Amino acid sequence: MTLFTKILQGQIPGNIVYQDDVCFAIRDINPQAPVHVLLIPKKEIPSMNELSAEDNALMGHLMKKVSEIAKAEGIDQNGYRLIVNNGSHAGQTVSHIHLHIIGGRALGWPPG
Ligand code: 5GP
Repeated sequence: MTLFTKILQGQIPGNIVYQDDVCFAIRDINPQAPVHVLLIPKKEIPSMNELSAEDNALMGHLMKKVSEIAKAEGIDQNGYRLIVNNGSHAGQTVSHIHLHIIGGRALGWPPG
């Protein structure tokens, strides 16, 4: 079971801000901006590399939820960044796909 699933199941404390049948969202424990939410499929897919065609609907669902969460967090108008770290070079530390939704301040580009 992954760290994020343990949070979902209440085994580890976490601030769940959204949940439905297929995904959930928590506040990052180490926020990089005023808003830093992680949107996570309940299915434990380790990374983008393991996605299959059967996950198409799931990933589409996540994309729609990003916009809804951004609006709920009040960052949709000024803008936000959506990040999926994939693998060691990207700094992925939790092997369970998660979408970082980051906003609430102007963000630098390019990322480090
Ligand atoms: P990654 O580096 O894999 O893209 O992102 C993992 C994220 O999970 C990091 O931003 C990290 O701060 C966050 N994280 C790690 N442990 C916990 C935890 O126990 N609770 C919460 N809410 N976030 C965590």
